[in-house]
Amino acid sequence: MDQTGGRDTLKKLHASGITAIVAAAAAFLAITYANQPDSGREIKPAAAVIIPSTTIKTQDATAADSLAPAAGQTLNNPAPQELGAQPAAGDPVSANDTAVKVSISRGLIYLDPGHQRRGDSKQEPVSPDSNITKARVTGGTTGVSTGKPEYVLNLEVALLLKETLIKRGFEVLLTREEHEVNLSNVERAEMANAANARLVVRIHADGNDSPKAKGFSVLYPDASVSVTRSIQPDSRLAAESILEALKTGTGASSRGLQPRKDLTGFNWSTVPVVLVEMGFMTNPSEDEDMSDPAYQLQFVESIAAGIDIYMVQKED
Ligand SMILES: [Zn+2]
Repeated sequence: MDQTGGRDTLKKLHASGITAIVAAAAAFLAITYANQPDSGREIKPAAAVIIPSTTIKTQDATAADSLAPAAGQTLNNPAPQELGAQPAAGDPVSANDTAVKVSISRGLIYLDPGHQRRGDSKQEPVSPDSNITKARVTGGTTGVSTGKPEYVLNLEVALLLKETLIKRGFEVLLTREEHEVNLSNVERAEMANAANARLVVRIHADGNDSPKAKGFSVLYPDASVSVTRSIQPDSRLAAESILEALKTGTGASSRGLQPRKDLTGFNWSTVPVVLVEMGFMTNPSEDEDMSDPAYQLQFVESIAAGIDIYMVQKED
């Protein structure tokens, strides 16, 4: 499967940057030679040297900056990249030039806010190679302090994460943006498969009989599951990046990485997939934290930072 589109585009951008640098160097040399009284060289007409950046100045400054990214700049300059197309050599350069703009995405991230308003107990296979079945989609847990259903919290956080990832230059799709849907876990996986997402992040919150249980965890497909063998290493790498970023960024307690064999949404996935359990809605203080807007922002920034680190590794 081809997941190299974004990388190819980045390579082209790097190439454009190099072209600009080479053209600028050529212009500098031409001027230097021209100014040497005894060089004997024919002075070239200025029009012969077309520096692409002259055109780019008519576009916005961010676009010009992103043409020649320094190493690591992707992380420091995560704004979406919208670049003016460069003119072919010899095209007239004009301030009124309305070059065609091309949107450059760093890749598609699919978010799956877990559950929905009503569960569906009809059964579906837990894996393409298994006769074992599970409910198509369950109802999820409920906040003991907030009284909020898990499906509401999951969508709140997923929508915030979507905005954060878009700011970092990713394309983002959600399996649902409302509660009145009936999407099974197989169907959710197939949506991301069909879109050939670079990564799927499933957003959930935990529940436990004990109100003391607390902490976030990041789940990924277990290495022993044959149907997810091809996506397992990348899924684990993404899970590790997100877990580390959550530890650094939130200060909340971590329950670590959890490999899972039994999740329908993992077993049907043909693209790398992780599931973030944000914390326990059955723990009164964690339930309240997870609905606190400041904590939610901190949490999604951390997930996004983890995704960013993972994606940069995959871009190399
Ligand atoms: Zn859940």
